[in-house]
Amino acid sequence: MRIKKILSPEWGQEKIAISGWVRTKRGSKNVSFIALNDGSTINNIQIVAEGSVFSEELLKQITTGSCISVEGNLVPSKGSGQDKEVLAAKIVVLGIADVDEYPLQPKKHSLDFLREKAHLRFRTNTFSATFRLRHTLTFAVHKFFNDRGFFNIHTPIITSVDAEGAGEMFKVTNLDLENLPKNPAGKVEFSKDFFGTKTHLTVSGQLEAELGALALGKVYTFGPTFRAENSNTSRHLSEFWMIEPEVAFSDLEKNMDLAEEFLKYCIKYCMEKNADDLKFLNKRFSDEENSIKKENRLEMGLIERLEFVLENDFVRLTYTEAIDILRNSNHNKKKKFNYLIDGFGAELQSEHERYLVEKKFKKPVIITDYPKDIKAFYMRVNEDNKTVRAMDILFPTIGEIVGGSQREERLDKLEARIEEMGVCKNELWWYLETRKFGTCEHAGFGLGFERLMMFVTGMKNIRDVIPFPRTPQNAEF
Ligand code: ATP
Ligand code: MN
Repeated sequence: MRIKKILSPEWGQEKIAISGWVRTKRGSKNVSFIALNDGSTINNIQIVAEGSVFSEELLKQITTGSCISVEGNLVPSKGSGQDKEVLAAKIVVLGIADVDEYPLQPKKHSLDFLREKAHLRFRTNTFSATFRLRHTLTFAVHKFFNDRGFFNIHTPIITSVDAEGAGEMFKVTNLDLENLPKNPAGKVEFSKDFFGTKTHLTVSGQLEAELGALALGKVYTFGPTFRAENSNTSRHLSEFWMIEPEVAFSDLEKNMDLAEEFLKYCIKYCMEKNADDLKFLNKRFSDEENSIKKENRLEMGLIERLEFVLENDFVRLTYTEAIDILRNSNHNKKKKFNYLIDGFGAELQSEHERYLVEKKFKKPVIITDYPKDIKAFYMRVNEDNKTVRAMDILFPTIGEIVGGSQREERLDKLEARIEEMGVCKNELWWYLETRKFGTCEHAGFGLGFERLMMFVTGMKNIRDVIPFPRTPQNAEF
């Protein structure tokens, strides 16, 4: 039996048996009150253990962090704080937890401290709520696409394509690094490597997903992606999960509609399924806000912000319009941006994205039609031959959460872009063939799963929404 079910209003059985981890124990010689949690819910169940039933020796072993199983009767609680409690008839200590050594004492620990205890942090309220939500969000992703006739495809994690340009890649090799095979010119002989060629960990499943879409119609990937960038920020991981739908017979407008519907669906699903966890995280978020200076506080609480996103249409504007707004903003004139905007062609930094979302529109924003020089080769070129059919979705506090585009389906234009961007054409022969054989309009996007997790949970560091974060100089656990 699990505590979530036992605490639900529908539960009707008196005799119960549960196992879980002790959060706290208090009481006297005559009676102990144990708060037990089994991970099924943020809520603990109170166990009442009477001194007349249990030996002092056994009760002494029940400390914060220990694991016990309990049999007893579910009875209306005499105390305040809970409706029901368990009058214990039998307790077995499955695993003790040394009081002096167990690091998670019943007090508030910092997130930094808990990151160093990633093997145990699942047992805190904050992280159990977060990781239950991570499951729900994963499920929402699959449900959304499944209900709409998409097929999930598994794209390779090891890839020989080096052309995507999405970021620095990790090399995959089984060559002896102390004794590398070299050719006469002194270069490493990758033909002697495991796959007979240079290989990397993928930065995206998009190119392969396109192949799927151009046969199955609507597909999506949901897998790990890797970036070897040395970006030690609160929004970047070296290993993160990406969702990439790819749709045939779709253009940029339909792509934006899909992304907006998808984001709203996932948020709503979490609010419905994990209301208790969100209530807890909402309070945590407000407490944290109240501990900082008033002028730095956000305007909305966590749940308020989620509701706000559900209720409002995302603002859609072109890159050129966005640049005009930014260039003429007081922020730019007063030189408050680290990177000042002088005109068309500038990369939007996260400070600019956040200005548009949080100051100017106060809503999620979709920016389209970026200059082709700052976007990837596969994005469809516009009539002006200057911009491409790209779209980025920007969220409050997060910045970029989705990057997508209508893809270049015209072989000649695609080849020209590949040439122009200096991308290695030979390794993409299979990608180009889809444009040769039965090509059609299609579009897709990439959503960083952990960025969405940050938005839903209100956690401010991306390292706290994935169980075991991988970042520069850190691969423990
Ligand atoms: P950013 O400018 O924030 O580094 P990007 O332009 O490199 O992002 P894309 O290559 O378009 O991002 O990747 C698609 C999506 O994947 C992004 O919109 C973002 O949500 C997510 N993402 C990208 N890089 C990372 C990372 N290092 N860690 C976590 N999520 C990421
Ligand atoms: Mn990046």
